[in-house]
Amino acid sequence: MKTIEQIAAELQGYDPQALSADRVNDFLARLVEPVGQTEDVAVFDALGRVLAHDVVSPISVPPHDNSAMDGFAFDSAQQQPGQPLRLRVVGTAFAGKAWAGAVAAGECLKIMTGAIMPPGLDTVVPLEFVKTEGEHIVVPLGVVGAGDNRRLLGEDLMAGQAALRQGQTLGPAALGLVASLGLPTVRVFRRVRVAYFSTGDEILSLGEPAREGAVYDSNRYTVFGLLTRLGVEVMDMGVVRDEPAALEAAFRDAARQADAIITSGGVSMGEADHTKAMMKQLGDVAFWRIAMRPGRPMAVGRIEEAGKSAVLFGLPGNPVAVMVTFLAFVRPALQRLMGGTASAPVLLQARSAEALRKKPGRTEYQRGIVVRDAAGTLTVRTTGNQGSGVLSSMVQANGLIVLHHGQGNVAVGDVVDVMMFDGVV
Ligand code: AMP
Ligand code: MG
Repeated sequence: MKTIEQIAAELQGYDPQALSADRVNDFLARLVEPVGQTEDVAVFDALGRVLAHDVVSPISVPPHDNSAMDGFAFDSAQQQPGQPLRLRVVGTAFAGKAWAGAVAAGECLKIMTGAIMPPGLDTVVPLEFVKTEGEHIVVPLGVVGAGDNRRLLGEDLMAGQAALRQGQTLGPAALGLVASLGLPTVRVFRRVRVAYFSTGDEILSLGEPAREGAVYDSNRYTVFGLLTRLGVEVMDMGVVRDEPAALEAAFRDAARQADAIITSGGVSMGEADHTKAMMKQLGDVAFWRIAMRPGRPMAVGRIEEAGKSAVLFGLPGNPVAVMVTFLAFVRPALQRLMGGTASAPVLLQARSAEALRKKPGRTEYQRGIVVRDAAGTLTVRTTGNQGSGVLSSMVQANGLIVLHHGQGNVAVGDVVDVMMFDGVV
């Protein structure tokens, strides 16, 4: 495990007072190490878990050549150019059992979808294409070519081939693929536990009466939602008062029980409170000003307690800044902690329906609404007020317009990148 100082020394041009968004991710990739421990879980319990090994296919899927249609299987070598083919039907092959007989020249076999193709037969003509004449069928000209409607042994996966790679998060398709290999369990990384709490004396918990100058805590709820969708175990620690003893107890408790700690509030420049001081006292922590908007201040590091350590993400307090810094930095870092292969979100390109003011030298994340216009082009407009406290903008948006570090003003019709929310926010 590297210290903050060691990582800082490795990164060219590291300036904690003006860090680019890319640099933040470079830093976090060095700070965060995968949990490592694994467990075997049943396929139904593996949804959202991260695979801890390559899954090599023990069998070929499908295990035999088989029919892709209900129809008649025959040897296409018998087809003569310009002539319909007349064949005698000698039996029926059903899915699930091999057909035992032999099919000679001039013969064919009625065959159901999924049934094994007997040796020597390579083509299936669908039922609806043939004319039946008593015991015979006539395959008209041009309805099938050699090899049509036959699925080949191993066309999905060959025995010995890697079906899934370590680090892959198992989604519905992957669960099905594992099951198709006949594997009842998979080895996954143990679940990561993330503790989170809000700080600030002006923050009210739900159920407390409103009072002047105070706001209800929203960050714990957005963080809860983001973490739950990521598939980690959550540990909600409430709102922690701005008192050294309360903060110390919370940080120690979190570090003892969790793999990562997320706090919100108390890390900005002008903070008169104790959060930063306690982070500094208990951990190896860097305090940054990131060249981004929203979300400039952030604390990152590690807190050790009872012989183990937890990664700390001290997020800013503003509700939109919390979500944006989570999506831009915390989420990829946690994926790494979970053992996953880091995958940058696929940015979609859309035409901006409005002019956007943007200063080069920082990354901006504007809340965007992407629609397909009448001409079929993806266009994006902002939700309006981009204040970092305007949480309703995150609800209206379906993605974040990412205006990159070096980018300047955007004119109407310019193409911009959008990080879509689908399933994440
Ligand atoms: P701070 O980063 O502590 O200076 O907070 C910045 C702004 O975010 C202030 O207006 C806080 O009141 C607000 N804020 C901080 N924490 C929360 C929270 N948990 N829920 C809602 N607003 C918050
Ligand atoms: Mg504060």
